[in-house]
Parts: sequence; structure tokens; C-alpha cells
Amino acid sequence: MAKKCRFCKGPLVYPEERLCAVHLAKYVEKRVDKVLEKVMGLKEKKLLVAVSGGKDSMGLAHLLSRKGLNLELLHIDLGIPCSSAPALTVVKAFAEARKLKLNVITLADWGFTVENLNNCQSLFKSNTCSLCGSVKRYLFNRFAHEQGFDFVVTAHNQDDIAAFAVMGISAGDLRYTSKLEPISWPESERKTVGRIRPYFYVPEKVSLLYTLTQELPYHDGKCPYLTGNKQGDIKSALLQMETTSPGFRQHLVKFVRKVPVSDSHLQVSSGQPNSCRVCGYPTAIDICRFCRICEGLSNQSQHQ
Ligand code: SF4
Ligand code: ZN
Ligand code: ZN
Repeated sequence: MAKKCRFCKGPLVYPEERLCAVHLAKYVEKRVDKVLEKVMGLKEKKLLVAVSGGKDSMGLAHLLSRKGLNLELLHIDLGIPCSSAPALTVVKAFAEARKLKLNVITLADWGFTVENLNNCQSLFKSNTCSLCGSVKRYLFNRFAHEQGFDFVVTAHNQDDIAAFAVMGISAGDLRYTSKLEPISWPESERKTVGRIRPYFYVPEKVSLLYTLTQELPYHDGKCPYLTGNKQGDIKSALLQMETTSPGFRQHLVKFVRKVPVSDSHLQVSSGQPNSCRVCGYPTAIDICRFCRICEGLSNQSQHQ
């Protein structure tokens, strides 16, 4: 006999937990609430939800938009050929349908594109995704701080978080443990808004199922600059471990969060946090990575 939802006997969409679409949605919401309830007075907080147009961020924005929260959306138009335009179309349609304010940052307005980052990997001794990730994090925080938001909300799922843990361990750099919290709190004196990761306890597969079963459009384009996808490789390996040892990723993250971090574990001294000499936003050294990228690209274009 075909198995049915364990709550309502409806057709299964998530056989591992024996859930139908309705109860899958409740399952996701419960996990999201477990994170959100840690923020006192959440309804009074100003939230900026980062939406790329992908499956995770569209599902999360949909779920949050039904909670009566004070939120706006932020999309960064990275100017990636064949990818950024359809992603922006998805996000715009989503915002219009729900009457949500959509803020768009166009990377080209900052004088460069992801293609420029891709061409300068050797200059910055870093791959394109790492540079692109730094730029996005910087712009999210700066925009949110300047516009008076309390928190940036991102759709990192449980698989992402477990991959961060492994990347931190493999690099011998336990700074990554600071990314393994569902919430980081605002530090306004350091021009840093808080960060909420409501999908912290939601596996990627469940996030995808939620977006599909809610019939939400999303953009599934592959970025042409995806470089040495270490995070993707780690995620696949972790998925394999999860199959043989269910709960592995959750236990891994729990374990890593408990490891005490001393300065000797850090690749960059935790020292006294600095303000960037150029832009005033936080940095571990004299000039933040974003400003070094801007300066490096501008110098390079002058010499061409
Ligand atoms: Fe940026 Fe890499 Fe994502 Fe492309 S795949 S958008 S380069 S982080
Ligand atoms: Zn059900
Ligand atoms: Zn700076």
C-alpha cells in the first residue's frame, strides 16, 4: 500500500519524514520559527531579506512575507550574462505580487562586474566566487546599515552551514565557526547589522521541495564564473555521509560550534576589530577587502 502523510493521509512529497505538501510547509515553518523566536520584538525590527532569485531565497521570502514582519527585499544585480536579467525578472515579479519593497543594487554602479573579478583572480590571489561572496556580503551590510535595517536575512540552508563547518576545519581556520550561528547580533557602533539565517535547520532538499510545492517561480541558471566549486563538492560528500548516517550534518555543526576558538586557531588575528581606513566599515586589517578590490580594479583599468 502506498504510504501516506503521517498527519493527514495526504499524498507524500517528502517520503523521508512521511509528509504531504501541507505538512511539509508546517515542518519548514516550525524550523524557521525556532530561529526567529530567538529575536525579541521581531515584529518591530526592520528586516532586509537578501533575494538572489534562487530556490532558497524565493522560498524563504515567501514564507517570511506571510508572517506580517517589517521587511523589504534586496537583490544585487551582478551583471552576469544570461543569468542576472532572468533572476531580476523573477525577483521583481515576486515583489510586485506581494507588494513588497524591492531594493536593487547594481554592481556596475560600483565600477565593476563579476567578469572583472573573474579576470583578476591572480591579482587578488583568490577565486571569483570568494571575491564575489566578499563583495555581496559587504554590500548587504553597507546598504542595510545606511538604510537603518536591524538585520539582513539570508537563505543559507543546513547544507550550506555544514559545508562552512567543513571548509573552516579543512582550512584550519575556525573563524568559520562565527558563521555557524542562526543569528548574529547587530553591532551598530561597528556599522554592522545583525544577520538571521532562518533556514539554519532546513536541509537543502527540503528547501527545494518547499519552493516547488508552494509553486514559486525561481531562477535556476548556472553562473558561468563558478570556480572550483569546493563548497559544492563538500556538500555532495556530506550528503553521502547523511545517507549512511542520518543527522550527520546537524551533529557536525553542533560539534563545531562547541569547539572553543583561541587566537591560535585563526588565520587572521581576532585582535581589536578595525574600521576600514577608506570606507569606515569593519575589517580585520587596515583596509577592508571590498575597498582593496575596488582599488585594485581601478588601478588595473588605468594601466590598460
Ligand atoms: Fe558569484 Fe560564484 Fe555565485 Fe557566480 S557562482 S554568483 S561568481 S559566488
Ligand atoms: Zn499531511
Ligand atoms: Zn573599506
